[in-house]
Amino acid sequence: MPRVLRLDRAHDYAHLIRRWRALARRTGLTMTSFAKASGYDVFSLESARAGDGAPAIYFSAGIHGDEVASTEGLLQWAEKNSSLLREVNVLIFPCLNPWGLAGNCRLDSEGRDLNRGYNADIPQILAQMRLLAGRRFDLALTLHEDYDARGLYIYEVPSRPRHWAETMLKAAAGIIPADPRKKIEGRSARAGVVRRSITPELMPDWPEAFVLHFHHAARTFTVETPSEYSLDDRAAAQVAVISKAVALCRGEFRTRRKI
Ligand SMILES: [Zn+2]
Repeated sequence: MPRVLRLDRAHDYAHLIRRWRALARRTGLTMTSFAKASGYDVFSLESARAGDGAPAIYFSAGIHGDEVASTEGLLQWAEKNSSLLREVNVLIFPCLNPWGLAGNCRLDSEGRDLNRGYNADIPQILAQMRLLAGRRFDLALTLHEDYDARGLYIYEVPSRPRHWAETMLKAAAGIIPADPRKKIEGRSARAGVVRRSITPELMPDWPEAFVLHFHHAARTFTVETPSEYSLDDRAAAQVAVISKAVALCRGEFRTRRKI
């Protein structure tokens, strides 16, 4: 039997949104169109507030439209964890660049890299920022892919003392090993981890992770799966990394509440 591509609709935005809508109905998540971009609705999903007794977690995917394991992996994780979605406070951006996803393109319809626009005057980002105003998260995960990657890697903005990136990579190592390169995107890397402090001046054009780290999140990670691996494996690796990060977050939340 010839093998078929299982995730053959990964670039079908309407299909992705239908699946999120079905999941929202099942789990009580509120799904909202918070912006329009190039004729597409851009959505957020939010839990019916589990309250202060549960951690708050931010997820985003698909800001680069040619990185479909991010959108697919996030949805698969959510589908597998529907009961957990009631136990934590989640804010989910399932696909921040619908036009790019539909056309398999990193940029938006105006040629902008949205992940360099978090201090720019871009309507959908300003709308996203309004949604985030005054909100704090225990964990923020921004999900990506990289066609240069030789394995899975993670950017961790160091904040709290115990770092998590190595443990997150280990959770996915049976699916995709860590990227062995010593330099990734010009930065020092070690066994798939790029850990660096950031300041507002570090990059003139801010990625999403900057705004999250400076204003909203106690821990911020950017996850990168290697685009040249099979899509099934890349999505599964995203699921494994997300699961581990959420488990670590819930564990830390419980511990911190006891102190
Ligand atoms: Zn990306």
